Amino acid sequence: MPDFHETDQEKTVRAYLNYFARSEIRPRSLEADRIEDIQPEFYQAVQRSGISMEMMPRSPGGSRDGAGAHERTTLRLSVLASEELSWGDASFLLSLPGPGLGGPPVSFIGTKEQRDRFFAVFKDTERPHFGAYALTEPEAGSDVAAIRTSCEEVPGGYRLNGTKTFITNGGRADWVVVFATIDPSLGRAGHRTFVVERGTPGFSVGRHHKKLGLRANDTSELVFADCFVPEENLLGGRAHYEQSKEGFKVAMQTFDATRPLVAAMAVGIARAAAERARELVEERYVLARPLPRYRALREALDDMDRRVRAARLLTWKSAFLADVREPQSRAASMAKAYTGKEAVLICREALELTAESGEAPDPFLEKWFRDIRVFDIFEGTAQVQRLVIARRLFEEIGAKVGL
Ligand SMILES: Cc1cc2nc3c(=O)[nH]c(=O)nc-3n(C[C@H](O)[C@H](O)[C@H](O)COP(=O)(O)OP(=O)(O)OC[C@H]3O[C@@H](n4cnc5c(N)ncnc54)[C@H](O)[C@@H]3O)c2cc1C
Repeated sequence: MPDFHETDQEKTVRAYLNYFARSEIRPRSLEADRIEDIQPEFYQAVQRSGISMEMMPRSPGGSRDGAGAHERTTLRLSVLASEELSWGDASFLLSLPGPGLGGPPVSFIGTKEQRDRFFAVFKDTERPHFGAYALTEPEAGSDVAAIRTSCEEVPGGYRLNGTKTFITNGGRADWVVVFATIDPSLGRAGHRTFVVERGTPGFSVGRHHKKLGLRANDTSELVFADCFVPEENLLGGRAHYEQSKEGFKVAMQTFDATRPLVAAMAVGIARAAAERARELVEERYVLARPLPRYRALREALDDMDRRVRAARLLTWKSAFLADVREPQSRAASMAKAYTGKEAVLICREALELTAESGEAPDPFLEKWFRDIRVFDIFEGTAQVQRLVIARRLFEEIGAKVGL
C-alpha cells in the first residue's frame, strides 16, 4: 500500500518549487506565451536556484547495468516537482535545461562511456544545455512501428535519412535521441536508437511549429539528409540490438518513465485553473449573488478540486510502482489517460464559470485552456493509452485462464 504522506524532503522540495514557480515563473508566463519564447532572465534565475531537469530521473530503475542507480531520484519526487513547476507554467518546465525526454533512453540502454559522454554537457552551468527525443514523423505518430527514418550501415557507422516532427526542444538541443529503422519491413525489430549531436553534417533543424498552447516551449522539425552518425553513437552498441524489438522497447520504456511526469504536469495545470477559478468566483460573485447561486458555484468548484486530487492519486500510484520497481505500464497509462481527459475538462469548466456571457476571459485561464490540450496528445494520445490499458487487462485475463 503506497504511503501518501509526504516525507520531509518532499515537503521541502514542494515548498521551494512552489516559491520558485510563484516568484520566477508566473510573473513571466503571459509575456513568454505572447513572444513564444522564454525570457533569458529566467535562465539566470534557474542558474541561481540550481533547479534543472536533472531533478527528473533518467530512468525509473537507473541504468541497465545498475551503474546509474546513483543518478536516480525517486519518480515520486520528480512527479511532485513536475506538478509544482507546471502549476507555474508547463512551458517553463519543459524548457528547463537538461536531457529532457532524451535522458531515459541514454540512461537506460547507453553504455557507461555513452552516459558519461552525453550527460557531461549538463555539468556546464554557465549556459543552458538541452537534450531531445525524436520518435514522431510526419507519417508516424501513434503508430511508432511505422517510422521511416532510415539508418543504412556504412563503414564506421550509419547514414541517417528522414524527417522528425514535433520535437520538444529540438531546435536548441545539444544532442537528440533519434529512432530510425534498418528496414521498415522488419517493423519494430528493425528499430535502432542513435544520439545525434548538434553540428553533425546532414542534421538540420526545420521549421519551428506554431502551436495552440505551450507556445513558449520550442517544438521543431528535424531533418536528416545523408547524416553520418559514428558507430559509437548507436545507443547500447551493436550487440544490444541482437535481441529483436530492442529499439522499440527503448521507446516504450521511456514512456513508462515519463507518462507519470506528463500526468503530473497536467495535474499542475488543472490545479492552477481550479484555484484561479475559486479566487475569481470568490472575488466577483459570492458577495454579490443570492445563496442558491453561491451553492451551485461551490459545488462546481468542489467537484473540480476532487477530480484534481483523484488525478494526483493515480499519478502517484504509477510513480510509486516505478520506485519499487514493479511493472507500471498500465498504471502510467491510466494516470495519463484519466489526467489528460479530466484536466482538459477542468480548464474548460474554470473558463465557463468565470467568463459569463462570452466576456474576455481571465488571461491565465485562457492560456491554460490552450496549454492543456496537448496533454491528451503527446507521449501517447488518450486512445493509445486506452489501447495499452486494454492490452494489459487482456494479458491478465489470459494469464488467469491459462492462455
Ligand atoms: C507540443 C508537442 C510536443 C511533442 N513532443 C514530442 C517529442 O519531443 N518527441 C516526439 O517524438 N514526439 C513529440 N510529439 C509528437 C506526439 O507524440 C504525437 O503528436 C502523438 O504521438 C500523436 O501522433 P500524431 O500527432 O501523428 O497523431 P496520430 O497518431 O495520427 O493520431 C491521430 C488521431 O488518431 C487516433 N489514433 C491513432 N491510432 C489509433 C488507434 N490504433 N486506435 C484508436 N485511435 C487511434 C489518435 O488517438 C488521435 O486522436 C509532440 C507533439 C506535440 C503536439
